[in-house]
Amino acid sequence: MDCIFCKIVKGDIPSNKIYEDDKVLAFHDISPEAPIHFLVIPKEHIKSANDINENNSHIISHIFLVINKLVRELNIAETGYRIVNNCGKDGGQTVDHIHFHVLGQRDLKWSPG
Ligand code: 5GP
Ligand code: ZN
Repeated sequence: MDCIFCKIVKGDIPSNKIYEDDKVLAFHDISPEAPIHFLVIPKEHIKSANDINENNSHIISHIFLVINKLVRELNIAETGYRIVNNCGKDGGQTVDHIHFHVLGQRDLKWSPG
């Protein structure tokens, strides 16, 4: 399958990894929107939030536990951060392998426009 993030999981495309285990991978976004901007993805190819189900939702909850650990290590747990999942065309999803953006170390604005 021609999926950039599956290629990153396999190591065919290099990435700046910050965490890896048997289920998930976290790496710095190639085009950061904040001083801290990393992505957390499941190693399994799940296309989008529309494809979360009873069989794979444990991976999604694991992703949130990993984020909880990483934001502490990166010292943004107390100052705050934003977790973003873009889903589908109107959501602005450009890579069809589910991923959670984590942005921090600056005062993030709202709304998304
Ligand atoms: P989306 O727009 O789908 O929510 O987010 C996709 C994100 O993946 C973007 O922020 C983009 O910068 C990032 N991205 C796309 N290709 C690569 C890549 O090859 N390496 C890394 N590290 N990030 C990528
Ligand atoms: Zn994939």
